[in-house]
Amino acid sequence: MYSSERRSFNLDDANFLQAVGHVLGTAIERRRSEDRARHEALHDPLTGMPNRSLLRDRLEQALVRCERRGTQIALLFLDIDNFKLVNDSLGHSAGDELLQAVAPRLEEAVRPSDTVARFGGDEFVVLAEDVEDERAARLLTERIAAAFTSPFLLRGESHVVSASTGVVMCPGGEVYPEDLLRDADAAMYRAKERGRGHYEMFDDAMRARVVGRLKPENELRRALAEDELVVHYQPYYSLADQTIAGVEALVRWRHPERGLLLPGEFIPVAEESGLIVPLGAVVMRQACHDASHWRGVCSEAPDLRLTVNLSARQAAQPGLVDLVAATLADSGLEPSCLGVEITESVVMEEATGQIEALEGLRELGLRLVVDDFGTGYSSLAYLSRFSLDVLKIDRSFVAGLDSGESSEAIVAAIVGMASALGLSVIPEGIETEAQLVKLTELGCRLGQGFMFSPAVEAAEIERMLSAGVAVA
Ligand code: C2E
Ligand code: CA
Ligand code: CA
Repeated sequence: MYSSERRSFNLDDANFLQAVGHVLGTAIERRRSEDRARHEALHDPLTGMPNRSLLRDRLEQALVRCERRGTQIALLFLDIDNFKLVNDSLGHSAGDELLQAVAPRLEEAVRPSDTVARFGGDEFVVLAEDVEDERAARLLTERIAAAFTSPFLLRGESHVVSASTGVVMCPGGEVYPEDLLRDADAAMYRAKERGRGHYEMFDDAMRARVVGRLKPENELRRALAEDELVVHYQPYYSLADQTIAGVEALVRWRHPERGLLLPGEFIPVAEESGLIVPLGAVVMRQACHDASHWRGVCSEAPDLRLTVNLSARQAAQPGLVDLVAATLADSGLEPSCLGVEITESVVMEEATGQIEALEGLRELGLRLVVDDFGTGYSSLAYLSRFSLDVLKIDRSFVAGLDSGESSEAIVAAIVGMASALGLSVIPEGIETEAQLVKLTELGCRLGQGFMFSPAVEAAEIERMLSAGVAVA
């Protein structure tokens, strides 16, 4: 306030000043609470670090700056190893203590201009600008990893804690922050696969994987190229003496991230994309080599039989018979030891290509096995049109033996018909002793199911065979 002469404030002045003060005070208070709200919206309440939204903003700005200056950023994605274990064994407050202790250590390891954010849970992200090259990024990563070398004090006791880190570098420009975070995260997963306390740089091979992951078909293509498909074998048994009569090849996918996948998860994609053809060739080759090997090393396995599943699409592929002939020759397996399992729909198919292929396989000396028998078509005319060898009784009938009479009648009818036509039967999916007894009574001589063994690795089959289990 300004006055041209000296005088003391009168009541009006005081009232006026009070009003001004009140207005200003309210404005300051509002401004403060806005600041507080903004800070809270952009920071993690537990550690006080920038949160995901602020990181995103800073990352966007950094990308613009980098492009302008022609420099690179490094983005580090850290995940504390076994954090869940800390939470579970020491309690959530110990988990919080750990996160609060990690935060300042990370902040001390970087330059003030770098951003360290809590990304969520036990994940932290470091954003560093003007990183010269990969070597500099590695040095930075190692400096940050050193923040974990001394133990942490949790609930009064010291604990050694490590973190896994994924690093991605980027020269800025037209890049989405989300994509960079995803890449750093993918590299972090790779680091975790190597064990605790490692770091991994994101590279082109990983990029191909991340992009390819969006398409199951490309994933499967990659799996084929990288030999991730393995063949397991489920034996089938001679029921009289419970010895192994043969094995069925069943494909599995040793997925680098998702573990061992069963065919139900990828055969449909393989069928749709046509990849079933190369996939089938891989299975056929591996299975013939394994079976030939067993027959060579296990004196108990001279008559060991092998069956391989063949889908309609595979049966229709040109050159199938030549491929099988070449595979047999290459592996040294006798054609009479190999059978193909086809479903009724394949046998019923009017397409001449498939019929010719089956006849060709038959001429090579292979056995034709009808899979899931009884579930497909009601017409049995095809049974006499082909020279078939084995009917595998679908497991729904075997399961039905426990409850109703009708399954028993159906199994009895199949066994009777098969024997009239000179075919053998293999009931599938035998799980209980009661089913086994019933099937034996009904005249089945072979059988397959979890009661005996699930599908197992090749090495396990070799053990089973050489453990002196005589083959029927
Ligand atoms: P499938 O040919 O009918 O094979 C039998 C399936 O039943 C296998 O499942 C086996 O693990 C399962 N199984 C065996 N015994 C029992 C039992 O006692 N109880 C129960 N509940 N299940 C039992 P898997 O390995 O998941 O294979 C599923 C299907 O994928 C196979 O059915 C077959 O149609 C297909 N498949 C597997 N490998 C290949 C392959 O190399 N090529 C083609 N084209 N198809 C394949
Ligand atoms: Ca089968
Ligand atoms: Ca089957």
